[in-house]
Amino acid sequence: MILDGTLVLPDRLAPGRVTFDDTIRAIEPGPVAHEATRYILPGFIDTHVHGGDGADTMEGVAAIGRLARFHMAHGTTTILPTTITRPWPDVMDALRAVAEVRHAGLSGGPAIHGAHLEGPFVSPHRLGAQPPFAIAPDPDHVAQALATGVVRVVTLAPELEHAETAIAAFAAAGVRVSIGHTVASFEQAEQAICRICAAGGTVGATHLFNAMGGIEGRRPGPATALMCSDAGHAELIFDTHHVHPASFRLAHRLMGERLLFVTDAMRGAGLGDGPSQLGGQEVMISDGIARLPDGTLAGSVLTLDAALRNALAAGTSLVDAAKLVSHNAARYLGLTDRGALVPGMRADFVVMDGDFTVREVWVAGQRHT
Ligand SMILES: [Zn+2]
Repeated sequence: MILDGTLVLPDRLAPGRVTFDDTIRAIEPGPVAHEATRYILPGFIDTHVHGGDGADTMEGVAAIGRLARFHMAHGTTTILPTTITRPWPDVMDALRAVAEVRHAGLSGGPAIHGAHLEGPFVSPHRLGAQPPFAIAPDPDHVAQALATGVVRVVTLAPELEHAETAIAAFAAAGVRVSIGHTVASFEQAEQAICRICAAGGTVGATHLFNAMGGIEGRRPGPATALMCSDAGHAELIFDTHHVHPASFRLAHRLMGERLLFVTDAMRGAGLGDGPSQLGGQEVMISDGIARLPDGTLAGSVLTLDAALRNALAAGTSLVDAAKLVSHNAARYLGLTDRGALVPGMRADFVVMDGDFTVREVWVAGQRHT
């Protein structure tokens, strides 16, 4: 099969064609008919997404399929359904459901790489919109989570009791340890980064700038520790409400390919304004912003195609914007078979028109949208 248009390659834009079956076989730059109106990008990867189209990861197998297909229609070809802080048995049920969907495969859907365990190992003092069921990552709970075999990313507040042993256990299992929902100081965050690295792990940050405090001259906080560490990767919710465009540019300048866009989308994504729910809490979506009754931002209604458009509007090049929704997450997750238009990689594509609206989505050489 062949797609042609303007190819968004790792280092440049080039008109040309890509030849593929389930794998990219050839990239051939050269004049093509659709150059001006059609862009071919690598499939998007979302490492932090709770829901969409009325469905939530916590609701089980059918809901996970529904939210995954919704985000696929917006370009996501690899997804990590994400849990929320709830009583532990509910969290385990959700992890088992993600494992079941992953094992069976999602026909007509994106690749389910695994789950992002966001909560309950978070600070009760920095819940954001997480419900109040935070617990410490004691060895028993960590072992139960790891036994599901499906956790790929864990959000962890490093100042919690048992965090040190939890970091070692998750890192040893290849789980990305993502610092977040934390009241840690700069020094505590730096120490956690060192611990993760020493255990052979990969350092992440859960929605950089959100639920980790700000940056002040005398109080640099976890965000500074994460941005300044050569080892740190960071998620960013770029709906322009969670993070100001200038803060995005700062992080991007410092972190480059270690910064990745996530949606942190909740069930109301795709449904327009109106009442919704997050983790059993009432949420109101108004002007595309989801909030708890007290005004706290409650996840987002973002999709990765919109995040890409926001990055372009903030002055990011298309080559870099494409990396923010694809390659950088692949690198963070250690997925060397996707995230770029390069021969030998999976044939995961997003075809966008001149306005960067999604026209086609291909997963491993199959067209699904
Ligand atoms: Zn989240």
